[in-house]
Amino acid sequence: MTSRVRDWMTPDPVAVAEDAAALEAFDRMVDRGIRHLPVIDAQRRVIGILSIDDLRGAFPFEVSAVRPLAPEERDQALDYRVSDVMTWAPRTTTADLSLEEAARTLAEHRIGCLPVVDAEERLTGILSETDALRALDALLRREPPPPKPAGAGEGLVEALWAERERLVEQLAKWQDTERVLSADIGDEPRDRAERATDERGVADLEPLTARAARRLRAIERALEAAEHGRLGICERCQGRIPATRLRALPEATLCVRCARTAAEAG
Ligand SMILES: [Zn+2]
Repeated sequence: MTSRVRDWMTPDPVAVAEDAAALEAFDRMVDRGIRHLPVIDAQRRVIGILSIDDLRGAFPFEVSAVRPLAPEERDQALDYRVSDVMTWAPRTTTADLSLEEAARTLAEHRIGCLPVVDAEERLTGILSETDALRALDALLRREPPPPKPAGAGEGLVEALWAERERLVEQLAKWQDTERVLSADIGDEPRDRAERATDERGVADLEPLTARAARRLRAIERALEAAEHGRLGICERCQGRIPATRLRALPEATLCVRCARTAAEAG
């Protein structure tokens, strides 16, 4: 019998709202000992994924899952929202998909987890690489090792291009929804309660699409910098900005150490 994602995923995983403070997400990850948090909108649709590496790359100080943050570090982290540093429009999977396909996606794109969604794109589970390894372990106990697949890892620039592509699609979808809802508001005669629901729908979407558009611009600036060979070079010390920081903050022009100096200076 084919193993499905549902057999190995963690159902109803902890998630975080896109407008939550990054610090809150960090505390939640440390509390639960988890490395990834799906990011959801008000309707529980998956719009992003936040990893502990994203926070490590973004926060202007050393982040360790075992050391509590100092009060002044917590102060420096206050400005970051989850939506500022998460990966937008992540790859997702469904519970019915074969585990084999999902595991291949994890391996090919070198991602740590796949949010599991239903037909309405609402979060129902999460499949982590640890889950996939558990499944592999079960398989290996019965069968000889399969031939090694050809590695197709993504570099930073490829990852940014891929996120850009998915984000453009997601934005177009949201803008369509917004247009439909706005058009509905203009129609008459309408039931008042129904109209209020549509108006609230637009209000829910607007800040989110604005933030998604901002992320898109940051990614496009990073890709442009990459074309000119400037991506990942710190403006202050000319040192290297690590890829984990640029994945979290594509617009970063300072390395963590220089950002820390700048933050401490005021
Ligand atoms: Zn620097």
